[in-house]
Amino acid sequence: MAKKDLDWSNIGFNYMKTDQRYVSNYKDGAWDEGTMTTEDTVQISECACVLQYAQTIFEGLKAYTTEDGRVVCFRPDLNAERMEASAKRLEMPAFPKERFIDAVVKTVKANIDYVPPYGSGATLYLRPYMFGSNAVIGVKPAEEYQFRLFCTPVGPYFKGGAKPITIRVCDFDRAAPHGTGHIKAGLNYAMSLHAIVDAHEQGFDENMYLDAATRTKVEETGGANFLFVTKDNKIITPKSNSILPSITRRSLMVVAEKYLGLEVEQREVYLDEVKDFAECGLCGTAAVISPVGKIVDHGKEICLPSGMDEMGPVTKKLYDTLTGIQMGRIEAPEGWIKVIE
Ligand SMILES: *Cc1c(COP(=O)(O)O)cnc(C)c1O
Repeated sequence: MAKKDLDWSNIGFNYMKTDQRYVSNYKDGAWDEGTMTTEDTVQISECACVLQYAQTIFEGLKAYTTEDGRVVCFRPDLNAERMEASAKRLEMPAFPKERFIDAVVKTVKANIDYVPPYGSGATLYLRPYMFGSNAVIGVKPAEEYQFRLFCTPVGPYFKGGAKPITIRVCDFDRAAPHGTGHIKAGLNYAMSLHAIVDAHEQGFDENMYLDAATRTKVEETGGANFLFVTKDNKIITPKSNSILPSITRRSLMVVAEKYLGLEVEQREVYLDEVKDFAECGLCGTAAVISPVGKIVDHGKEICLPSGMDEMGPVTKKLYDTLTGIQMGRIEAPEGWIKVIE
């Protein structure tokens, strides 16, 4: 047992095969007991429901080393709950919360040498997912499923500090009203691929999706929720039934209110009012917060007062406080940190 000899600060955000992953199969109405395996490939029917009808959901969370040397995960109970909600919407069986957390613990322990050291900026990214595995040709939910959880070390999201990004108001929609935008389903990502490739070709880092019904309200990007800071330091996040409830964003709202004493509000946010905000950030597990410096709406530029050089001051405080909580430098609210022991 020895830490892998990896160049932690330079591994990037890529898949790297690790030693073991967790697998459990659902058949005849029940999950089996689950096991760790070294097998990194999946063998399923050529007609598996996931391959034909995209019946698959996933989660994403991280394990990392705190300042005092413990290996921890951040709020895995919320990932478990969200995955249950995702399963329900796609007519998949729930994977029980206690078992989800147990799978997280087992996978991190089995790959403990891949957990990056404190201070490296790198983390061990965990990817739980579930898919319909038996053959389905007439459209209906699968009867058999596989839940898997693998991990892969990932480098610091921002090499050399978080530089503000430029995003565009997107003409494609991410999620329909009453659709699946609020669950973490692979299908939401499949349909965002063209939009993000197109955005990159046009020189933008990300897409700002609007509500599909009226195209007047801000929703989110392909994989991160918006946080705005008003000129009088209030934190605002868009409210919509088609936004994926980011655990990072929900945690940042608590941090803003309870640690920084800021007023927070979740409400509909119109594209028209974005020009009046002082700061804008994108929230998700991967980067915690990516600062947005500029939003381009069909040639019309909205330049946030925080500029293109660094994170806005409030965004920075939010970022420092939440990462401080995660890394064990600041006391966490009850139940936020799951120690792997
Ligand atoms: C996963 C995801 C997020 C971020 O959620 P976190 O729980 O903070 O990682 C935001 N938007 C979408 C569409 C997502 O899939």
